[in-house]
Amino acid sequence: MRCFTHPDYVFPLPAEHPFPMDKFWRSAAMLEGSPDITLEQSHPATDEDLLRVHAPSYLRKIREGNLERNEAVKLGLPASAALLIRSALEVGGTLQAVTAARSDGLAANLAGGTHHAFADRGLGYCVLNDVAIAIRRLHASEPTLRIFVLDTDAHQGNGTHGIFAGDDRVFTYSIHVGKNYPAAKTPGSLDVPLPRFVSGTEYLEQLESTLPEAWADFGADLCFWIAGADLHHADRFGQMRLDDEHFAARDDFVLQQLVASRTPTAVLYGGGYNRDRVHTAAIHAATVKRCAASWARHYRDKPLRPPAR
Ligand SMILES: [Zn+2]
Repeated sequence: MRCFTHPDYVFPLPAEHPFPMDKFWRSAAMLEGSPDITLEQSHPATDEDLLRVHAPSYLRKIREGNLERNEAVKLGLPASAALLIRSALEVGGTLQAVTAARSDGLAANLAGGTHHAFADRGLGYCVLNDVAIAIRRLHASEPTLRIFVLDTDAHQGNGTHGIFAGDDRVFTYSIHVGKNYPAAKTPGSLDVPLPRFVSGTEYLEQLESTLPEAWADFGADLCFWIAGADLHHADRFGQMRLDDEHFAARDDFVLQQLVASRTPTAVLYGGGYNRDRVHTAAIHAATVKRCAASWARHYRDKPLRPPAR
């Protein structure tokens, strides 16, 4: 399975900053040499692609490091030209992953899933909305593609929901803690809000009782899966209580749905803020390894169906 990454996914931040940038290099290092995984280098998305979603005035403010104080607090990362270049590189990895997924069945960006970013503002460490940019680019040449955004990050995918509100070609599914960040939810096609500190067992029950019907009813041509590593009980922000075995069960269940319908899927990281930084990277890497095992079993020697439309 092809996985896209780049050394510059790691953006230098002050030592006390809570965002675990090291997870990008750590997880890539954990995956290097894994059977069934090929690491490929990401290339930055173009301005033309970023502008498919984001307002020129917003991109200018990031580039010039010129956010209002409240905007800077909401984004949580220091705006600058370098941050915009780094974010465009991460978007590029998602664009490459979806292209690879359409021929190979499954592919991953070892980053991405920055689902809190809206067209005109960044939120919660999300500068650019990679999934939204990828969808807009696909729809520019194939306007009837039906695309499922499967968001199992612990937080609601509010930015993606807002960008595709009213677009019936895009189904946004989000299973998350109801009373956690973002405080103001933007409704998606199907939201599954869970109680704070939900147990792994209850989480899995809710996932298994809501996803299959939505998945079958919509009939996606293509999927973006924002996996999320912030569901772990030792995560600083996720407010869920999954352990490593629950993650394996989540991933296996999602992969079952994807593979049974042979829907090409780009797998993305989403959040992960475990108190143990190495563990954050290990959760992301374990999900990618399970995807690669599934890819080897179901797709390596069996071509995908031709695109439905
Ligand atoms: Zn999250």
